[in-house]
Amino acid sequence: MAGVTAAGPAPATVAIVAVGSELLALGRTDTNSPHIAAAMQRHGLAVRFTTVVGDDLGDLTDAMRHALARADLVVCTGGLGPTDDDRTRDVAAAVLGVAMYEDAGVLAGIRDRFGRRGLTMPEINRRQAMVPAGATVVANERGTAPGLWIPADGRAMLLLPGPPREMVPMFEHALAAHVVPRWGGGLIRQRALVVAGRSESWVDERAQPVYGPWRDDALAVSTTILASLGTVELHLSCHGTDDGVLTRRLDAAVAALDAVLGDDVVNHDGRSLERTVGDLLASRGWRVALAESCTGGLATTRLTDVPGASAWVDRAVVSYSNAAKIDALGVPDALIASHGAVSEPVAAAMAEGVRTRAGVDVALAITGIAGPGGGTAEKPVGLVCFAVTGPRGTECRTSRFTGDRAVIRSLAATTALDLLRRYVRASGLP
Ligand code: AMP
Ligand code: MG
Repeated sequence: MAGVTAAGPAPATVAIVAVGSELLALGRTDTNSPHIAAAMQRHGLAVRFTTVVGDDLGDLTDAMRHALARADLVVCTGGLGPTDDDRTRDVAAAVLGVAMYEDAGVLAGIRDRFGRRGLTMPEINRRQAMVPAGATVVANERGTAPGLWIPADGRAMLLLPGPPREMVPMFEHALAAHVVPRWGGGLIRQRALVVAGRSESWVDERAQPVYGPWRDDALAVSTTILASLGTVELHLSCHGTDDGVLTRRLDAAVAALDAVLGDDVVNHDGRSLERTVGDLLASRGWRVALAESCTGGLATTRLTDVPGASAWVDRAVVSYSNAAKIDALGVPDALIASHGAVSEPVAAAMAEGVRTRAGVDVALAITGIAGPGGGTAEKPVGLVCFAVTGPRGTECRTSRFTGDRAVIRSLAATTALDLLRRYVRASGLP
């Protein structure tokens, strides 16, 4: 496999420090860090961590020291205002050990900003004209606080104001002017394997022995496992300089995971389950109809959330009551009487009923007990029966979910869509 040359040097590292007590206590969310992290990633820099810290001098000093000790580039946002609690500039200069001077040009710019609004600059704003030695000012078109790019000892700090509307354009400018020329050019390539119908631990038990050793390869592939309701994602990421090498490495990694996860893999590109189902239906030229009971249309909502769904979704019947199952889908009264509404025979009759009425290729049915009431010893809350019917006949399945009503309904919709996916997939290309 590729050697060190293909992998390239280790990526430059970034730490982000979001400064502001309001981010800790007043319910304001740090949106700057994710924005910065995503941009760094696009340029091949590796974000090591983000710290959110209040306006306390000691905490801020520790946070910046720690960040500088661990990363090539430290990006701070917030705390560049004129008031006493805005200490980012002072702390950065102290931590880097550089002196500050009052920059006449910056001061004139701030005065001018006030002047244009017919105001005199308050004396406290002079602080915003203090510039650490060796720093380059990053102009702020939308506020008084200038940003600062401070290179020191092979590392650098980038200080930006907190308000996102000021921060974002200044960051984009500093990225292009300072960061990319110095540390950009590396490539990070990623894949997201989406797995359905299995728990996170089931997936990890099989995948970990495969991906575990990749961490130590010359061309390392790092892996993150993320679980959400009904699906599990494996994110693979690989860093280097040659797109072809990275692509081949990730192709091989994906193939190795496919070999152990098989049909449970929904896709390799992070598409949603419903989009994948839509793409599969479209590739067969098939249209689907649905009959939903306990999910009340949730599976149909998911499918029709996908743009272009009119090409593959024909109709859905929300047949909540027994009467609806009989009237709208032709489920035999006797079938419900003998098996109960939550049963595989009734699910099959619902699917077959809606398929015949719609005249479509494939149909999906869901009937279950979402709770919290309505459960019995024989048919407990969380019991859901599914059926898919199409050219290969009818397939049924029963699952038992745990959780509240919303969780059960969501898991039922996901499981149904996954069943449809497996059915369509196994039906082969026309
Ligand atoms: P500053 O005066 O530069 O400390 O910024 C204060 C303003 O910017 C407040 O309105 C904050 O809520 C907002 N702000 C500060 N930091 C962030 C952040 N990391 N993400 C989003 N908004 C922020
Ligand atoms: Mg602040």
